[in-house]
Formats: sequence, structure tokens, C-alpha cells
Amino acid sequence: MSIVVVGSVAYDTIETTRGGVADTLGGSATYFAVASRFFTPVSIVAVVGSDFRPEDRQLLHERNIDLRGLEQRSGSTFRWRGRYHEDMNIRDTLDLKLNVFESFAPDLLPDLQRSDYLFLGNIAPDLQERVLEQVPSPKLVAADTMNHWIADTRADLLRLLPRLDILTLNDEEARLLSGEHNLVKAGRAVLKLGPKTVLVKRGEYGAIQFSQAGMFAVPAYPLEEVVDPTGAGDAFAGGLIGYLARSGKVDESRLRTGAVYGSVLASFVVEKFGLGRLVDLTWEEIDLRYRAFIDLIDSHHSRWISQ
Ligand code: AMP
Repeated sequence: MSIVVVGSVAYDTIETTRGGVADTLGGSATYFAVASRFFTPVSIVAVVGSDFRPEDRQLLHERNIDLRGLEQRSGSTFRWRGRYHEDMNIRDTLDLKLNVFESFAPDLLPDLQRSDYLFLGNIAPDLQERVLEQVPSPKLVAADTMNHWIADTRADLLRLLPRLDILTLNDEEARLLSGEHNLVKAGRAVLKLGPKTVLVKRGEYGAIQFSQAGMFAVPAYPLEEVVDPTGAGDAFAGGLIGYLARSGKVDESRLRTGAVYGSVLASFVVEKFGLGRLVDLTWEEIDLRYRAFIDLIDSHHSRWISQ
């Protein structure tokens, strides 16, 4: 089963306490695609400017990401500049230039319209809806959003929510959307707005998934060193949706396993700046960390019980 992702393809300038990078390839669709390609074929629908570097296109192409839906227009590629605090769960957006995204109106190729799995990455909810309109019978629709859209285009977002199988957002965004401070209340309140499952991301504290079946919590894989959290949320979604698409079925058990894969993929992204760690990652490394993850949260201790 293949996935279509619509979202930003960007050049990011990032500062963390560990250093910085300028104009590095990023964007929500990019992180999602580079993570989900380990599970299933993925196509990016986005727009870039005339300054988009051929080597970046090549990098995505070599990782089997379908770029037929990546439009190139005259103008500049989307730019984002962010700085992380000492507490890397907190970041400030210092600058954001939509550039060619300002007039982006995606039209999907006919074969992409027949796609079963759709991830609507972080862009304006009316654009997310426009893409959804073009895919008549998807098996699963997931979307991400952020504080900016919740505050400024709430009506558009509220219209989209009942059409979603999965909504991903971070803890502050869940509070902003629901008006509830307590995270359990916030998660449940967002669930009432329509999505079948709500995934609340909590940075180094992991994530909580809310659905009719109840709650499922997954930790972040504990690391000695975090270099740059950019893209962790999108890579989480890439692992989760990638796993669901590969298994071809969506149920509570698979949603839980998928969340573990999401956390595994996110744990790699933060180890290097930008896409640095994700681009060279292998399936063997993912598999090893998945096993280490299961070992980390296994409470049955079967391995440790002496006869
Ligand atoms: P994450 O850290 O998972 O939230 O994703 C970070 C990525 O989102 C960066 O690569 C940015 O280029 C991209 N991004 C930041 N702000 C926006 C925005 N307003 N719209 C679309 N993409 C954004």
C-alpha cells in the first residue's frame, strides 16, 4: 500500500545548544517521507522554488521517494528558521517565509488520487482539505497541525477534523485547540471534535494516543544526547502511518505497534542535525532499536526470571 504525503518541503536554518545549520533540506513532507519509505512506497505532493538544489531532489529520489507531485516554480522555496531552548521541548520560530507555498494549490495525478493512505502534513488546513477532496476513497487519512493554524484558521481546521482517522499534534497545540490544560482532558476533548484517533506528541516525554478504545502511552527512546529535535514529529508520523500502510489494516493493536515504530523513527532524527541521521539509516538499525524499545518497556521480565 502506498502513501501520499502533502506538506512543506523547506530549507531550514536551525540553532540548538549543540550548534546550528543553515538552509538545510527539511519540511514536514520531507521528514515524513524519508521516515515512511522504510515501510512502503511514498509520494510527496508539494511545491519548491527555482532555488531548490538538484542534489536535494536527487537525495530524495535515491531513497525511492516518488517526486512526480513535487512541483517546481519560479520563486523561493519555503524557509523556516527556528531556535531551540536548553529544554529542547521548547522552540521559537524566528522567521518563516511561505514563498512559493503562498499560491500553492495542489492537483494530484490520477494514480495518486487512488491512494489508500494519505498524510496531510503541516500546512494550511484549507490546502489539506483540497487534497483530501481529490482522494475519493482513502483507507486512512491522517493529518498534523500546529499552533499557527489552530489560532488563525480554526474554522477550516474544525471542518477537517471529522474527516480524519488520525490527528497528530503536540501537547501545547492540544491545549490550545481544546481549551483544556490537563492533557487527558485535552486529548479527550480533541477526540470529540471528530478524529477517530488523536496522537498527542510530548517531545522527550513520548506520546499519548487517544481513541474510543482508551489511551496508549509510548515513551521517547531515552538517548544520552539530543542534537536537533526538528522533524521528530513528522518522522513519528512517518513510522506510524508507514507501519499501518505496510500492514494494510488499521485496528487498535496495529495503531499501538505503529506508535512504537513512530517513536523509534523519531529517536533517530534527533541524533543529528536536520535529515542527517535519517538519510543513511538502515532497516537493520530500525529493527535493532525496535527490539531495544520493546525490551525497554517490557514489564513481564520473562528474560530476567531465574528458574
Ligand atoms: P517538526 O519538528 O516535526 O514539527 O517539523 C519541523 C519541520 O516543519 C521543519 O522542517 C519546517 O520546515 C517545517 N515547518 C515549520 N513551520 C511550518 C509551517 N508553518 N508550515 C509548514 N511547515 C512548517
